[in-house]
Amino acid sequence: MKYGIDIWGANNFFIENGVLKINYANQPALIDIVKDIEEKGFQGPILIRFPHLIRKQINSLYNSFKKAIKFFDYKGEFKAVFPLKVNQFPTFIKPLIKIAHKFNYGLEAGSKAELILAMTYNNKKAPITINGFKDKDMIRMAFIAGFMGYDVTITIEGLNELKSIIEVSSEYHSMPVNIGIRIRLHTSGVGIWAKSGGIESKFGLSSTEIIEAVEIMKKEGILNKLKMIHFHIGSQINDISPLKKAIRESGNIYADIRKMGAKNLSAIDIGGGLAIEYSQWEDKKDRNYSIEEFSNDVVYLLKEIANKKSVPMPDIFTESGRFIASPSTVLIAPVIELFSQEYNEKSLKLKEKNPDLVEELIDLYKTINENNYIEFFHDALDHFESLLTLFDLGYIDLTDRSNAEILVHLIIKKSITFASFRGFKNKDLKSINEKFQEKYLANFSIFQSLPDFWGLGQRFPVMPLTKLNKTPNRSATIWDITCDSDGEIPFRKENPIYLHDVDLNKEDYYLGFFLVGAYQEILGMRHNLFCFPNEAIVNFDDEGNYKINFIETTQKIREILIDLDYDMDEIERDLKNKIETTDLTEENKKEILGELFLLLNDMVYLKKD
Ligand SMILES: *Cc1c(COP(=O)(O)O)cnc(C)c1O
Repeated sequence: MKYGIDIWGANNFFIENGVLKINYANQPALIDIVKDIEEKGFQGPILIRFPHLIRKQINSLYNSFKKAIKFFDYKGEFKAVFPLKVNQFPTFIKPLIKIAHKFNYGLEAGSKAELILAMTYNNKKAPITINGFKDKDMIRMAFIAGFMGYDVTITIEGLNELKSIIEVSSEYHSMPVNIGIRIRLHTSGVGIWAKSGGIESKFGLSSTEIIEAVEIMKKEGILNKLKMIHFHIGSQINDISPLKKAIRESGNIYADIRKMGAKNLSAIDIGGGLAIEYSQWEDKKDRNYSIEEFSNDVVYLLKEIANKKSVPMPDIFTESGRFIASPSTVLIAPVIELFSQEYNEKSLKLKEKNPDLVEELIDLYKTINENNYIEFFHDALDHFESLLTLFDLGYIDLTDRSNAEILVHLIIKKSITFASFRGFKNKDLKSINEKFQEKYLANFSIFQSLPDFWGLGQRFPVMPLTKLNKTPNRSATIWDITCDSDGEIPFRKENPIYLHDVDLNKEDYYLGFFLVGAYQEILGMRHNLFCFPNEAIVNFDDEGNYKINFIETTQKIREILIDLDYDMDEIERDLKNKIETTDLTEENKKEILGELFLLLNDMVYLKKD
C-alpha cells in the first residue's frame, strides 16, 4: 500500500524499510524527525516546513518558463511574485525570501498588512504587485514602497482606484509606481475555487472601463505608467483549457491597449491558478496538465498573438501561490486512540452461565478460520442483532451485552484479517470492511489545520509514517479532537483510506497530512479554542544531515484566552478566589492552585499520559 505517493508525492518522499523517507540529501525518515522534535519536549500535532521543497517549486516554475522561452524564441522575460495571501507566516516567508533572491522573485500584496510585509521583506530589486481593493491609504503605502526603491505595480480593480492614484500622485507631486489593470475576462476557471474569473466576476475592469481608463491616463499624462495587465481566473485550475482561453483573451486586450498608445505596457500577469495534484487515487486525479505544458502553452499563445497583432511580446508575470507553497508543509498528527481498542479479550467479563447466543459467539470466535470466516461473520452479526433485541426486552443484562459487543468486534477483526490475506476478494467482505470502519482519533483539529476539508471538502493526502511494509487492513475514519461532528474525515468507498491495526499501548502511530502549505494556516480557525500546532523548520546542512533550525511553540492556554481579549487577571483572580473559598486545607488549596496555574501555561492539545 503506497497511499498514492506516486500520484501526489512528486518524488518528494519515498517508502523504504517500512517508513516514509524524505527524498533529499541523506534521506532521513520523517518519523525520526518527529521523534527528534518530541525529544526536545514538543508534543501534540507538529507542522513541519521543508524549505528545500519551496526551492524546488520556485526552481521548477522558473526553469520551465525559461525552457519554454528558449524553445519558442520568445522575446519577453519571465517574472514572478509570490501572493502573500497563500501563506503569510514568518516560518514560511522568511525561508522563501532567502531562496527568492537568486531568482529576483517578488511578492504580491492584497491588503495593507500584506503590503507592509512586502515592503519589509521583499528583495530590493524584486517586483511588488498590489492587487485587491484599495483605499487611498493603501495607495499612499504603495507610493512609499516606490520611494524606497521597490519596483511597484498597483493593479487597479476599478476606475475609482485610478482616480485615487491620480489624487495621491498630486499629493506627492510624483508617481513612483507603475499601474496595472485587472481585466475582467469572459473566461472563468473550473472547480471549487473558480470564482475569480468570468463576466460576473467580483474583480477587474470591463472592456468599456478599460477604454475609459486608458483615456483618463492619457488625459492626465500618465499613460506611460501603464505597465501591466492582469487577470486571475481562480485557484487550482485543474483543466488547462480555460487558462488557454484566458491567455488568448488577455493577449488580444494587451495588443489593443498598446495600439491605443500605451507604449510602456509590457507585461501580462497571468495570476495564479497553477494546480497541485492532491489525489491519492489514480482515477480521481485533480489536474490534466504538467508545469511544462502550462508554461509552453502560455509562451506559445502569447507569441502567436503578439506576432499576429504586430506588438512586442510581453513579459510574463505569474502569481502562482498554491503551486509554490503547498508541498513545503507537512502536518503530523499522532494517533491517540483506536475506537475498537477497548474491544479486547481482556475486557470480557464472562459469567459461569452465559446466555446461549453469547456462548455461540464464544464458540464462533474460538473456531473461526480462513475457510469458514465468511459464514461465521454473518452468524455473528445475526446473533448480535438478536442479543440487542433481547437486551431491549430485558432478557439479558449490561454485562451480557458488553460481552456480545466485544466478541462481535473480535470476530469482525479476525474476519477482516483473513479477508485481507486474500486481498479482500470476497465482495461481501469488502463491504463489511467498508461498513465496520476503525475510528482513528488523531491529536489535531481539522478546523485549525485543514479548513479547506471542512469548508470545501478538499482532500489532502494522508498516510502513516511507519508500518509501510505491512498491509493496512482497517478501513479508516479519522477523527480530530474537537467536539464537533464535522471534525471527521469519513471513510468513503470511492476514495478509501486503510490504516493499520495498532496497539497504541505498545507503539506510536502517526499520520502525515501532506500538501498543506497553501491557505490552510491562515484560514484555520480556533474552533474549540484549538490554536496553531507546534511548528518546525527543517533544513539540511552541507553534509546532507537534517537540522531542526527553529521551533515555534504552540500557544499556551492563557495566550489563547488573551487573544480573545479576555482579561487574564480577572480569570486568575476568579479561579483563585473559587479555590480559596472551598473548605479544603490550606495546604491542599495551595497545591491545586499551583497545579491549575501550571495547566494555564500549558498547551491546549492533548499530551501523552
Ligand atoms: C489568490 C490569488 C493568487 C494565487 O492563486 P493560486 O491559485 O494560489 O496560485 C494569485 N493572484 C491573485 C490575484 C489571487 O487573488
